[in-house]
Amino acid sequence: MTDVINGYAAAASDADLAPFQFTRRHPRADDVVIDIQYCGVCHSDLHQARNDWGNTRYPVVPGHEIIGRVISVGESVTRFKAGDVVGVGCLVDSCGECAPCCEGEEQYCVNQPTPTYNGIDRHDGLATYGGYSERIVVAERFVLRVPDGLDAKAAAPLLCAGITSYSPLRHWNVGQGDKVAVVGLGGLGHMGLKFARAMGAEVTLITRNRDKEQEARRLGAEHVLVSSDAAQMAAAAGRFDVILDTVPTAHDLNPYLAMLHLNGTLVLVGMIGPIAPPVHSGVLVTGRRSIAGSAIGGVEEMQEMLDFCAAHGICCDVEMIEMQDINGAYERLLKSDVRYRFVIDMTTLKR
Ligand SMILES: [Zn+2]
Ligand SMILES: [Zn+2]
Repeated sequence: MTDVINGYAAAASDADLAPFQFTRRHPRADDVVIDIQYCGVCHSDLHQARNDWGNTRYPVVPGHEIIGRVISVGESVTRFKAGDVVGVGCLVDSCGECAPCCEGEEQYCVNQPTPTYNGIDRHDGLATYGGYSERIVVAERFVLRVPDGLDAKAAAPLLCAGITSYSPLRHWNVGQGDKVAVVGLGGLGHMGLKFARAMGAEVTLITRNRDKEQEARRLGAEHVLVSSDAAQMAAAAGRFDVILDTVPTAHDLNPYLAMLHLNGTLVLVGMIGPIAPPVHSGVLVTGRRSIAGSAIGGVEEMQEMLDFCAAHGICCDVEMIEMQDINGAYERLLKSDVRYRFVIDMTTLKR
């Protein structure tokens, strides 16, 4: 086996993704070598390829919703063997010593977790390259077991879109009878509906689009509120325990906060940036309401989520594409023209 492998990379912010050859490290004692079968297409991939966050190191090989089969393992690996179906999400390493790491919250590592792509390996100082490639080499600690019964290709987006929705619902203890609203119906939102329903909540979708009612019900919503309908929104004042806000751009939070019950929490999972327009503190103070944020999930919680999905028979709704279709898929992603996640069949890379 050669260490030179094929992938797809962006060479510059204005360049399409194109075939790219690079090397993976020789496996270390704790490494798992994975033949990648499927890779989900996350909006972050597009942001990073186009340098929307100003921190991209080129060439960048995106992809952090990775499902594959183990080819080989290092001598100290105990949990995996050749042939196992496994997953890798947004992170491939962390310091392992800080308080969040010790609590299984590697995503909040105070010494910066190592991202699956566009990162720098903590040991050899080399760039990390993601899942738009044939193979990946990842430390065992960051590899997940894909349970039998989960459709591997539909499981890929669980590793970013899925966990981003699952983790806050668990953190805020969503359970039987709780009233949960999900704002926005995209990759994150469609999983938020499924998870909240499976946890026993009474689920509402809040959307700009009246046409989404039937879809929302299919995905687990009991109610649908149209955000442009002020009367509908006002009638829902004080209703929700948790609002999972998946909208990726700045938007007025005040009407949503007013819909929280006493002690309710609005969790931002889709947007990173200034909140605008300003939030009136009165809406927080008068109901002891909170605005919070949440980022992906820790390794242990990701495994819990995969097992939860297998137990409840839920997965992502995906549209399969070939590697060569990636640039067209990005254009469709910009128009939210996907239900609800693109997944690349990585065998098409070998053509
Ligand atoms: Zn992602
Ligand atoms: Zn740490």
